[in-house]
Amino acid sequence: HENVLHENFIGAIDQGTTSSRFIIFDGVGEPVAMHQIEFEQKYPESGWHEHDPWELVSSVETCIEEATKKFLEKGHKVSDIKAIGLTNQRETTLVWDAETGEPLHNAIAWPDTRTKGLVREFKERKGDQNLSAICGIPLSTYPSCLKLVWMLRHVPEVQKAYDEGRLCFGTVDSWLIYNLNGGKEKNVFVTDSTNASRTMFMNLHTCQYDDELLSFFDLDRTKLRLPKIVPSSCADAYGTLSKGILKGLKIAGCLGDQSSALVGQQGFTPGSAKNTYGTGCFLLYNVGEKPTISTHGLLATVAYDFGRNRKPVYALEGSVAVAGSGVKFLMNNMGFIAHAEKVSELASTVDDNGGLVFVTAFSGLFAPYWIDDAKGTIFGITQHTQRGHIARATLEATCFQTKAILDAMEKDSGHALSDLAVDGGMSNSNICMQVCQEDDHTQSNIIGIPVNRPAMRETTALGAAIAAGFAVDIWKEFSELKAINQKNRMVFEPEVTPEESQKMFKKWDRAVSMCRGWLD
Ligand code: ADP
Repeated sequence: HENVLHENFIGAIDQGTTSSRFIIFDGVGEPVAMHQIEFEQKYPESGWHEHDPWELVSSVETCIEEATKKFLEKGHKVSDIKAIGLTNQRETTLVWDAETGEPLHNAIAWPDTRTKGLVREFKERKGDQNLSAICGIPLSTYPSCLKLVWMLRHVPEVQKAYDEGRLCFGTVDSWLIYNLNGGKEKNVFVTDSTNASRTMFMNLHTCQYDDELLSFFDLDRTKLRLPKIVPSSCADAYGTLSKGILKGLKIAGCLGDQSSALVGQQGFTPGSAKNTYGTGCFLLYNVGEKPTISTHGLLATVAYDFGRNRKPVYALEGSVAVAGSGVKFLMNNMGFIAHAEKVSELASTVDDNGGLVFVTAFSGLFAPYWIDDAKGTIFGITQHTQRGHIARATLEATCFQTKAILDAMEKDSGHALSDLAVDGGMSNSNICMQVCQEDDHTQSNIIGIPVNRPAMRETTALGAAIAAGFAVDIWKEFSELKAINQKNRMVFEPEVTPEESQKMFKKWDRAVSMCRGWLD
């Protein structure tokens, strides 16, 4: 069996917020070839954040070509790759014309806050209506729903296509699968339940679109074309690549990136959790086969849905809008560093945060606070403040929000986590994860439990490969995956007392309460 696993390969497309990747894994979960491309972030106005729909597609296609070439150079054959999985940035919203296949607007990316006013309007006009009991998500700028409503109101072509029944709505998974299959001719128009659970259009209990939700947003299901919701692991719904080096290869798995990271970290048992520090930071906690609707500011979401008579598995989620994007802010906007990985070096130039708290509320604050009108605010600046202090406070901001999320999760679920599996670009920073000196206010210290980091951090892509591998029977049971990515994990232990960590957190909490209510 071991030999067979080494001869069976699976490709994984990882279409993230800042870059696209294609990674080819072998049957024991080792990456064999990979290619990555960063693409343009468009910020046309303050608070707006867009992606070019065609660049999302072309960056993925180029990654597939280039990674496969590297794979072939190693002596493998195209036919050794058995299937492709896809994982993608969630909530990011696209619209296109069913007749032409052309996008009708740029993709509105998940951190975009242009819908702030719409959130207020819908809350005032319609009340809360306890939507989160149906779909697991409170109304905010974050899910896809109001991004679509915004486009309908502000882009005449979008409204016209909707009125004429030509408007396709999709998240990034649907757009990519549609185009990788060749677009309107084949018309493969699907999404998986993890991605659909981020739109606010899906009933979390049935994993189908819900008329009550659609009518809340004044959407008419007879006019709007919605992708069919199918399981995340599925051999016959996602079609095949229509061109390029892997033409004809089956797409057999699809998961939103955070769900995929949970699968990649093998968080298959209720009570397991992972935290991914990418552009944002997302903690998912497996709650089993029934959703837990949060009463403490968390989201309920589909964790994964492996189909074939298996029930969907749900998660409680804590979403933090700014993590690695805070590091990018220091790099691109402030010019403090030339590369993201240099942030640890800069943070090490000082012993502590020098009394600084940086609430990195660039997109308002997400979980567990949900303050749409919060703005990024630095507290505690003095003549003593250096760039290093700001770098440290930037890293700590994500760690403090993770702490707030864990506290909420303990209240919602009734039990406390004993350790936290981590991954994502910013988890590469030891100073962010680790305790180097006694007064480092970093992740394990702040949450008071060990932080456990795998050696291979491409767990998001790995999750998509696992979903595809299950669909084509490379694996049949989760227990077969046990050995994957277990070697050389690093564990960061907390080194301060719970009292000390509470003291740091109190300061953060006070800063959060002071950054709300900014007028535009
Ligand atoms: P995404 O999938 O959201 O694009 P990634 O997991 O690829 O995110 O992580 C990219 C983010 O991680 C970037 O925002 C970058 O600033 C940050 N990052 C990458 N490497 C490091 C590092 N060594 N230290 C701190 N942050 C990093």
